[in-house]
Amino acid sequence: MNGDVGRRFVLAGGDVFDGTGAPPERADVLVQDGRIAAVGTGLDADEVVDATGATILPGMIDCHVHVMLSGVDVMAHLNQPFSYAFYAAIANLRAILDCGITTVRDAGGADLGVKQAVADGLIDGPRMCTAISILGQTGGHTDEWHPSGVTTDFFVPHPGRPEAVVDGPEQMRLRVRELVRAGADVIKICTSGGVVSPRDDPRRAQLSPDELAVCLAEAAAAGVPVMAHAQGAPGIKNAVRAGVRSIEHGIFLDDEAIDMMLAAGTFLVPTLVAPHWVLDAAAAGAAIPDVVVDKARMVVEVHRDAIGRAAAAGVRIAFGTDSGVGPHGDNLRELELMRQAGLAPAAVLRAATSTAAELLGVDADVGTVEPGRRADLVLVGGDPFDFPALRTNIQAVFKDGRRVG
Ligand SMILES: [Zn+2]
Repeated sequence: MNGDVGRRFVLAGGDVFDGTGAPPERADVLVQDGRIAAVGTGLDADEVVDATGATILPGMIDCHVHVMLSGVDVMAHLNQPFSYAFYAAIANLRAILDCGITTVRDAGGADLGVKQAVADGLIDGPRMCTAISILGQTGGHTDEWHPSGVTTDFFVPHPGRPEAVVDGPEQMRLRVRELVRAGADVIKICTSGGVVSPRDDPRRAQLSPDELAVCLAEAAAAGVPVMAHAQGAPGIKNAVRAGVRSIEHGIFLDDEAIDMMLAAGTFLVPTLVAPHWVLDAAAAGAAIPDVVVDKARMVVEVHRDAIGRAAAAGVRIAFGTDSGVGPHGDNLRELELMRQAGLAPAAVLRAATSTAAELLGVDADVGTVEPGRRADLVLVGGDPFDFPALRTNIQAVFKDGRRVG
């Protein structure tokens, strides 16, 4: 939906956090045809939305969600009918939108049909950029093989979602081409083990440099960027060296990896909340392998420390949560964890707006409150930097100038 054509209104009397990191300033926002027409004081229109006492933020951007996933309880997943996940995604997208998140990058699971259903206005949700499948090696992060011989893929392949396990440069070439054909906006690869995979170690590198080189070359030929699930330092360095656009998680970042990211301009998407969600689910009795719970416990502290060091060094950090591992709608919990890791409050909101838009390559369209941008806007009462209260302080959410929450 491209907003309400012809509709013109002004959000009047509020403060504007423009997304650049500058402090909020008193300003009105004039919206016309779904876009921001002007920002300044004394703006007028026939229709006025009173924003007195509120702060107007750019619609936030979660750079790492899985809308086709609703938790990591293995038994619940095994018993869920295949098509149920599509219907659950409708509720998941709604819950994310209600957080003031108007754009997401789905880091694996959602196919072109989900993205198109949102774009066509068939269902409400944040606009989507999608990875579709998560490429990883045999025995790696996307190979959900258990010692019984049973596999419990969270994302089974289907006509819109190509096979995700990949070994060797030639197969990598095929997999990337399949994903481009299926409509992927970004290629997601796993260059290290992970937390929720039963048979690997997040500190170990996965996929070899020759496989990564083919992946990056094929993605570049198709004009799509590459994002790397990368937790251990060797896998992070392999990914940065190969030329990925973003490191996801970055749990065991060392100083050399941080220097390499700075030199290459690589973005970092922390997802600090993800291991907390795994621990919460396990505590609530979810069927999650002990080895997965142990890994989640192992990474919480070291992760926070790594993200703090990366932020202090000046690595560009973009907001991402891994929602789907935990409940969609709980996404803003990440903001407080970023603050606790050492980011200044304004830097946290910048990570969730303008920097996230830059990572996704949509910064000409969203991520800041300025004329010409889409009117993706969030009205927040109270202190916008009070992150634990932010979700309940949201008064209204606009996407393309249309009120959606
Ligand atoms: Zn993820």
